Amino acid sequence: MAVTDLTACEIRKAIAERRLSAVEATEGCLRAIGRLDPKIKAFLSTDPDGGRRRAAEIDRRLAAGENVGLLAGIPVAVKDNMCTADGQPTTCASRILGGWRAPYDAHVVERLKAEGAVIVGKTNLDEFAMGSSTENSAYGATRNPWDLGRVPGGSSGGSAAAVAARLVPIALGSDTGGSIRQPAALCGVVGMKPTYGRVSRYGLVAFASSLDQIGPFGRTVADAALLLRATAGHDPRDSTSVREPVPDYLEGLEEPVRPLRIGVPREFFSAGIDPEVESVVREALAVYERLGAALVPITLPHSTDYSIATYYIVATSEASSNLARYDGVHYGYRSSDHTDMIDMYMRSRAQGFGDEVKRRIMLGTYALSSGYYDAYYKKALAVRRLIRRDFEQAFAKVDCIMGPTSPTPAFHVGERTADPLAMYLSDVYTVSANLAAIAGISIPCGFTAGGLPIGLQIITDVFTEGRLLRIARMYERETGWTKRAPPIVEDAA
Ligand code: GLN
Repeated sequence: MAVTDLTACEIRKAIAERRLSAVEATEGCLRAIGRLDPKIKAFLSTDPDGGRRRAAEIDRRLAAGENVGLLAGIPVAVKDNMCTADGQPTTCASRILGGWRAPYDAHVVERLKAEGAVIVGKTNLDEFAMGSSTENSAYGATRNPWDLGRVPGGSSGGSAAAVAARLVPIALGSDTGGSIRQPAALCGVVGMKPTYGRVSRYGLVAFASSLDQIGPFGRTVADAALLLRATAGHDPRDSTSVREPVPDYLEGLEEPVRPLRIGVPREFFSAGIDPEVESVVREALAVYERLGAALVPITLPHSTDYSIATYYIVATSEASSNLARYDGVHYGYRSSDHTDMIDMYMRSRAQGFGDEVKRRIMLGTYALSSGYYDAYYKKALAVRRLIRRDFEQAFAKVDCIMGPTSPTPAFHVGERTADPLAMYLSDVYTVSANLAAIAGISIPCGFTAGGLPIGLQIITDVFTEGRLLRIARMYERETGWTKRAPPIVEDAA
């Protein structure tokens, strides 16, 4: 068995028992990246030398009997919108940050290092995390490991594809409107958006600050639990990170949640859903029923009809403000052919940002402008409150909410690039959890007849990640989906 077939928890155990070294684990991942990543393009940059050095140091510390941490020797990938100070670039897949090197580590990167992880590289994304396919990267699209003609989802498509193709066992992503859960679904892996405030965003390049949240990818629920435990917790440098204690998410993971009332929103099976996705997700719900859960029909009246519209006002407004800092002076790219200072700002931004980012800045600037503010931004905040209330009412009756993560399986490269609205609709089931600031996970629940993975989304109330993971694990234990590898991995073996 190759080291890349092991989950993070298995690597952890093997390293603890001295059956495997951190150097062997890192070399295994670097070899897999060398072999498969030219086709998948999950990574924007790798750090083989730094990774090897770090792995060797961890082996030395383990040999000296030190307690190295939760992730001792485990190779990890990090989405390239999180700052790393070790000389690796942090680009956000944008030309405007081309070659930029962050002067400090993001909180989550500090946490990974403190727990002994080996960061092997930075993964591709839609520019500034704006997109659902990873095609909006200034450095080329990532491909779906299950079918190289299709997208991996986005915006954390690089992290999802890297985990699906077994280039790394676990990876970090960020989720503003679905960017962890949707690519997890399209790539057949586990991806979780924790509650807003659960993981510090210090050093995460801001897209929409009231929505952004960092979370884990893994092939199994336990691996996601491990990575969440290592990265969650209060950090005074992110004023929205909460002081709630971080439970040991692995402890009790095997205990089923009983009784379990599952809310099934009518709106999550509405027009636009692919029939294969619907039937596979309904089969997953039947598995829970067999496990003793009760399915409760519910309604989230504001959540599906208005969530996309609300999200694209709130997210673009915040983005237009956050992205004002890229002026050609403070960071990265500066146009060389300018006449005066204003012209330099304008040309740097015009040349540095891609089309989707410009579209968002224009939409957000419009929604915030005086005269339109009340009609758009203020209205969106009011609807956001109603969406939150839908969930509050639902959680008074049920323990969790389930439905599809994405209305369709992975689509073809280029299929939606000319139609922004079609692209935005990829997130119709995921954005409301961000608007309501609650927790959500996507777990693999089957395949289409053509062999594309399908994800089941499970949503729970704020700061109930432990219960959410246990609910996800109940299903995973009954089914074998997480064991299946994409053909490209089997062929390479
Ligand atoms: N696809 C959504 C968007 O384009 C969500 C992105 C994200 O979660 N970062 O905004």
